[in-house]
Amino acid sequence: MTQMRLVVVGAGGRMGRTVIRAVAEAPDLVLAGACEPEGSEFVGRDAGELAGLPPTGITVTDDPLAAFVAADGVIDFTVPAASVAHAGLAAQARIVHVIGTTGFSAEDEEKIAAAARHAVIVKSGNMSLGVNLLAALVKRVARTLDEGFDIEVVEMHHNRKIDAPSGTALLLGQAAADGRGVSLAENGVFTRHGFTGAREAGQIGFATLRGGTVVGEHNVIFAGPHERIELAHKAEDRGIFSRGALAAARWGRGRKPGLYSMADVLGLGD
Ligand code: NAP
Repeated sequence: MTQMRLVVVGAGGRMGRTVIRAVAEAPDLVLAGACEPEGSEFVGRDAGELAGLPPTGITVTDDPLAAFVAADGVIDFTVPAASVAHAGLAAQARIVHVIGTTGFSAEDEEKIAAAARHAVIVKSGNMSLGVNLLAALVKRVARTLDEGFDIEVVEMHHNRKIDAPSGTALLLGQAAADGRGVSLAENGVFTRHGFTGAREAGQIGFATLRGGTVVGEHNVIFAGPHERIELAHKAEDRGIFSRGALAAARWGRGRKPGLYSMADVLGLGD
């Protein structure tokens, strides 16, 4: 098979630069384009240099559609509004769209699902093997334990993160809700402050910590009477997310349009 041509959007971001480096190291992939929003200081610069590599000959552009039509896939770790727009463009260009961005509204999710009628979209709040495996374990444990065990999801990230709780925390909360056969929207508790009253059975609680340079830590606690089970994941390097995103792009190539998850890519379904 020929090399897969990939566009990296958000090329100047923390994840964008990491993905550019990972593409450069993969012999079956080639960087076909790099995008940043209009007015970005990175537009016009060489994508390789941006990522601390030798020049690649790919200049960062603010015209994603032109880049997408000359590619097989796009890797997207940006912001929700941009990812929604990119999904529409990926559908037009009929290419694979890997979305790692987090913080989508319900309305955004609907637009992405609509775009997935024409594009292969793989979307996950966490692209790492470890977290997706953890989610499968959380679902399994939640299915086994009854509401006598209180479920709490605790996460910590670096001080630049702009959404909370993290997409990964939500993914883990969703796995817990799925395991219990309940709705996360109805049972999730995302903030606690002041006189909250006692914790209600069946709630799935979230706690968010922000500080320093932490890449991402998640802990799912099942707190029962006189015993506690904790399942945790600690990300040590952003490379785990870029490797997962590239695996998702390869997996999506030639597949029929639809909205897929990393559980599909990794074969972690029930
Ligand atoms: P970041 O450093 O702020 O990077 C975001 C990049 O997107 C910036 O370079 C930004 O450019 C760019 N951008 C914004 N609008 C754009 C547009 N319309 N077109 C192209 N580029 C655009 O953030 P990050 O740490 O890399 O994280 C990015 C996202 O990925 C976040 O939602 C984060 O939660 C998520 N994430 C997911 C995973 C996962 O495994 N799923 C892992 C890590 C991070 P400007 O700065 O010029 O606006």
